[in-house]
Amino acid sequence: MLFLGHTHVCLLVYETCLILTCIIGDYCLEHYFIVDERSSQINQRKMMWTRALFDNMTHGIVGFFSWAIVINFNLKVNQIVSLLLCFFLALGVDLDHFIEAKSTDIKDAINLPRRPPFHKSTIIPLVSGTATLFGCLFDSNILKIFSLLFTTAWLSHHIRDATRRGLWFPPIGSTPLIPYKLYLCLIMLIPLGIRTIYSLTIDCKNHFNNNGIV
Ligand SMILES: [Zn+2]
Repeated sequence: MLFLGHTHVCLLVYETCLILTCIIGDYCLEHYFIVDERSSQINQRKMMWTRALFDNMTHGIVGFFSWAIVINFNLKVNQIVSLLLCFFLALGVDLDHFIEAKSTDIKDAINLPRRPPFHKSTIIPLVSGTATLFGCLFDSNILKIFSLLFTTAWLSHHIRDATRRGLWFPPIGSTPLIPYKLYLCLIMLIPLGIRTIYSLTIDCKNHFNNNGIV
């Protein structure tokens, strides 16, 4: 630890938090938040809500730490807004269960005949590509950052879901289920890849601007 700079220590802390969130979240969902078919309808619904909210929070926290890695979060107040945005974007994906079910009943939302629309992984390159294109056309850093933030939030959600249902690329089809260890590796590596893009395209520009170079 003595030989690590502040940036590397932060990175290590966020990566550790990220993998622990996944492991603890998945473990609790598998072992504690189980719907007992023999219990009353009210208790079943209560457990379904608890399970859905816990799963959602896990998605949100995964998004939060993934973005903390991308931007190298160092407790600056202006970074917290984008961290919260990534948190809510990552957990907001599952709202499509209720949209598809056209109901606020949790039982309808989790017993859908097909996968709901926000779980189409083809949406990610479409949205982030469009934001990047307009970001370049209008020289807007906010749009470029949004493109990376959206990819981080939704991709982390889709990868985590893919251990149960695979990645869905309509109209092409779906991948097989992602093995658990591969999912953990991807969850840890994807923010590092996006961090590299961020540092090359956003940070460099800010650095130059701040120094009056451009
Ligand atoms: Zn989901």
